Amino acid sequence: MRSWSAPEVPSLPDTGLPRAADPLRLHDTGTGGVRPTEPGATARMYVCGITPYDATHLGHANTYLAFDLVNRVWRDLGHRVHYVQNATDVDDPLLERAEQIGEDWRALAEREIQLFRDDMTALRILPPDQYVGAVEAIPMIVQMVEKLRAKDATYEVDGDVYFPVAADPGFGEVSGLDRAAMAPLFAERGGDPGRPGKRDPLDALLWMARRPGEPGWDSPFGVGRPGWHVECSAISVEYLGMAFDVEGGGSDLAFPHHEMGAAHAQVATGERPHAKAYVHAGMVGLDGEKMSKSRGNLVFVSRLREEGTDPMAIRLALLARHYRADWEWTPAQLEAAEARLARWRAAAALPSGPPAEPVAGDVRSALAADLDAPAALAAVDSWAERALAEGGGPDAEAPARIRAAADALLGVAL
Ligand code: ZN
Repeated sequence: MRSWSAPEVPSLPDTGLPRAADPLRLHDTGTGGVRPTEPGATARMYVCGITPYDATHLGHANTYLAFDLVNRVWRDLGHRVHYVQNATDVDDPLLERAEQIGEDWRALAEREIQLFRDDMTALRILPPDQYVGAVEAIPMIVQMVEKLRAKDATYEVDGDVYFPVAADPGFGEVSGLDRAAMAPLFAERGGDPGRPGKRDPLDALLWMARRPGEPGWDSPFGVGRPGWHVECSAISVEYLGMAFDVEGGGSDLAFPHHEMGAAHAQVATGERPHAKAYVHAGMVGLDGEKMSKSRGNLVFVSRLREEGTDPMAIRLALLARHYRADWEWTPAQLEAAEARLARWRAAAALPSGPPAEPVAGDVRSALAADLDAPAALAAVDSWAERALAEGGGPDAEAPARIRAAADALLGVAL
């Protein structure tokens, strides 16, 4: 599937700023600690994509922005970044929405994926190298289910194929949850714990036999469609291999989605781990509730853009909160971000300013420490305030360097 167009990322040493030094440290959900990432020349990252049945809301934008920072920090450290994302372009919620609005599910998916691309482009989110739809990934998904079947790690219930979680001795390591904590989340997040015939209530669906009126694809286990977890598992292993550096998504994906995906991949390949770190962004709420389609309390990026909001202000509003925090969106936060953007732009338009080197250093150190974007913004704030108060400064190169640093590291075009 087509990805979206990449914004130019300035190389900071080319602008006269010193090279980055600190390794990127990220919080890993499974171990609960912040640890250094240790990528090779090419850093490898997989981030779960959207199910395209509705437009990109600020919760999505917050997640993709967090991993955009990971991408930018690694690049600044001199790594190439191999970034893969999926789009779940066939699944229950998409088919249900298509049925509800009387639209072909393919047309609905196509339209929403294009809107997502437009939103990501406007927000200057670096695109994945491979943007892969579930439908186009069916051959690799079938192959993974075949591998699991060859290892006796599948069983059938009325024609549907399940994965027995008992097959992976490491099950639970990704989310760090015990079974008591897993059970309610599994039921709440698309699982079917009560289905008769399952060996373990937590066992996950790999392949669902075609239901009347629904699409299906041929496979050695009958006509049907893939489960959601195995989709990401197969796509990530196909393009990135095992033990890639970061698997990312919103915190609601830690269990069951990332846990199951890791279990599938580890049992299918006989290698572990699936990813070296599982990194999760917090949930953005509105009026006391998590922003979600089912609750209908969404603030859409596309609607804000239509209303004339500068996407860079949206970006700054999201960056003002730490990526792991759960927080509430309010219009006042957007106003504050617009004011900050205006201050930064006014300062960066001056003919000179205070030196940029310490600011770039502070932004880099803040981001390297588990993506502390609020601290990074504070470093640029103090530079902008000094430049504006003094009407410039001793360094004629500083405004251009600040623009380059804000662009390369924070993705904010001034
Ligand atoms: Zn996924």
